[in-house]
Order: sequence, then C-alpha cells, then structure tokens
Amino acid sequence: MKIDITEIMNRRQYEIPFSYSFDPGKTDAECVDLPEDITIPENGIKVEGKITDNLGIITLKAHIKADYITPCARCLEEVHGNLSFDFERTVLADNTSRVFESHITDDGEWDGSTDDFLYVNEASVIPDADIIEELSLELPSFTLCSEDCPGLCPKCGKPLKDGDCGCKEEKYVNPQMAILQKLLENDN
Ligand SMILES: [Zn+2]
Ligand SMILES: [Zn+2]
Repeated sequence: MKIDITEIMNRRQYEIPFSYSFDPGKTDAECVDLPEDITIPENGIKVEGKITDNLGIITLKAHIKADYITPCARCLEEVHGNLSFDFERTVLADNTSRVFESHITDDGEWDGSTDDFLYVNEASVIPDADIIEELSLELPSFTLCSEDCPGLCPKCGKPLKDGDCGCKEEKYVNPQMAILQKLLENDN
C-alpha cells in the first residue's frame, strides 16, 4: 500500500501509524516471485506498524503476519501455514539526507547497499515488494501436513494416512533404494 509521509517530510508529524492487508496478486509494486507451490489467500498478508522520524532519520517498522497454503511435501494434501516476523527499513526521503550521505564513499560513489532502504516517491513509500521479498526468505523450504506423514502409496498413489489402500504386500520403498535393490537382485 502507498503510505503518504507528507506530514513527516514537512516536519508536522513525527509518527505515522499504518495497518493494512494485501496479497501479492493485488499490489502495483513489482515483487519477487514466491515459490510456485505457495498460495497467499486474498488479503493474506497483514501489515501493522509505523513510520517515525527521529531527528531526520526516518524509519519504517512493522510486524507482518502472513497466511499461506502449500501442498504437503509427502502426501500433497493442502497445508495452511502462517508466518509472523518483524520488518524494518530506513526510509530515504531525498538524496541530501544524512542517511544517504553516509552511504557515499570517499570517491563520491554509492556504496552499493540497497537492501535496507525504502525510497520515497511523490511523498509516499510502498513497502509491499520488500515485505514479499522478506516473506520469501521466511518461508520454510518444505511443509508437512504432520511430522510423521507417511506419504503416498508408491503403487496406487493414495495417501497412506487415509488407511489401507489394498497394496499392503508392498511396503513403501524410497525410489532410490528401489533402484539399488534391483541392482543387487540382478547381481545374484
Ligand atoms: Zn502429508
Ligand atoms: Zn496403494
């Protein structure tokens, strides 16, 4: 969401609280792509925080809560997960700010740091793209519906946790182990 910080830039206000929710499908900001198997429900990302001006150094601090849906890595059943993390950025209001100057090297070049900044555009900041980038780092690399999810039956493909599928003579074998087993059998 576009957060108007005119009041801070004009020094009429030193704190602007904000609270909103969004999802990656409904933001104008250009965002990093989340993994394909992650779905964020409508308004699934909740943002609550404030922008403060501390002697000319403007900071955005927020707490993010995000809901997501992803398939279980073993049985592919939909799993609803959620994340909660803190988000903080320094707001660069203009290129004469002290923060900006502190990142100019002795040669007059920008020192290359970009990650921790939000840039002001027409007296507003839009933190959504940065929030999604941070979210992509917070997401677990895989999700299970339960710690001991037994996965799918290798023969009929039914989730084993649903009970007996009728293929009980074959126990689950890791596909790679199955190849090894075949090789060993051929050796004999
Ligand atoms: Zn599962
Ligand atoms: Zn089966």
